[in-house]
Amino acid sequence: QAEAESRERALPARIRDGHVVAIGANVNNPEQVPFALDQGAEGVGLMRTEFLFLERGETPGEDDQYATYRAMLKALDGRPLIVRTLDIGGDKQVSHLRLPKEENPFLGVRGARLLLRRPDLLEPQLRALYRAARDHIGPGAPAGQEAPLLIMMPMITSVPEVLRLRAITEGIRAEIGAPPVPLGIMIEVPAAAIQADALARHCDFFSIGTNDLTQYALAIDRQNTELAPEADSLHPAVLRLIRMTCEGAARHGRFVGVCGGIAGDPFGACLLAGLGVHELSMTPRDLPGVKARLRAAEMDALKALATRACDQEDAAAVRALDPGEAA
Ligand code: PEP
Ligand code: MG
Repeated sequence: QAEAESRERALPARIRDGHVVAIGANVNNPEQVPFALDQGAEGVGLMRTEFLFLERGETPGEDDQYATYRAMLKALDGRPLIVRTLDIGGDKQVSHLRLPKEENPFLGVRGARLLLRRPDLLEPQLRALYRAARDHIGPGAPAGQEAPLLIMMPMITSVPEVLRLRAITEGIRAEIGAPPVPLGIMIEVPAAAIQADALARHCDFFSIGTNDLTQYALAIDRQNTELAPEADSLHPAVLRLIRMTCEGAARHGRFVGVCGGIAGDPFGACLLAGLGVHELSMTPRDLPGVKARLRAAEMDALKALATRACDQEDAAAVRALDPGEAA
C-alpha cells in the first residue's frame, strides 16, 4: 500500500493530453530534500537562501555557502536546483546584518535592491554558487553545463537591475572559470509582470512569486492578519498579471515557474497550468495533491478555465469555478 502510494507520487504531472507540468519543491536545506523527493518532487524550484542567514545568527562565509550548495546538488542527484540569492527585507529581517530601519520595509531596500547595494553580500554568494556549479560532477547536467543549477534574483522591478546583475554574475563566473548557469528573475512586483516581455529579453527564466505579487497588486501587507482573507492570489487582477508574465515570456521562448503559495493549491495549480506556467514549486507536503489533480485534468479545459477565471469580477467568483476534487 505505502509502496503503491510512493510510486504514484513519483509519477509526473502529465495532463491527460500528454502536456507535462514540471513539479518542484520549495526546500531550504539539504536535510529537507529526502522528504521532498519522497513526496514526488522532481527538483527544487526555490531554495530560499535567506534561511542560511536567519538560522545561523551570523553571515555565512563563502566556503560555508559553497558546502551547502554542493550538499543540495548531491542530495538532488542530478535533479534541477533553483537557488534564489539573498532576499532580505520586508518580512525577512536579519538582525546581524544591521540594515537601516525603514518606514515601509516592503517598499524599501529588499531583494535585488539590497544585493545591488551590498556587494559584500552578493559577491561571496555568487562565488559560492559558481564554484558549486564548476565543481559538481554528476548526472543531470544540461549540455555545456556541469551542474543542474539555476540562479534566480529576487524582487526585480526593472530592466536596468537585471542588466547590472547579469554583468556582475558574468564577471564572477568568468573569474571562477565556471560554466554558464541560467540566470532567472522572480516576478513578484506588478511592474515586472507588466514589463515581462522586456525583462524576458535579458534573462533565462522567470519564477512568479505570487505571495509578493498578490501583496503588491492588491496593496495588502502579506502579514496583516485582518486583511488576510482578502489577500487572495486568485484575485482576477493577480491572475491577469500572471497571464501577462506568461505572454511576455513566451515571446522570447522563456520558461515560467511559480513558487508562491498558490502553486501548492490543487485548484490554483490547475489555473496556473491553464495560464501557461511550465513549472510549479511548492512546500513538499502539497506535492501529492497537486500532481494527482493535474493528472486528472485536460489541457484545453484548463486553458478555458483560466480564461474564464481572468474574466471574473472577484476572487470569490474565481473560486466558485473550482469543480472540486472530482474534476
Ligand atoms: C513569493 O513572494 O511568492 C515567494 C515565493 O517568495 P517569498 O515568499 O520568499 O517572498
Ligand atoms: Mg517573494
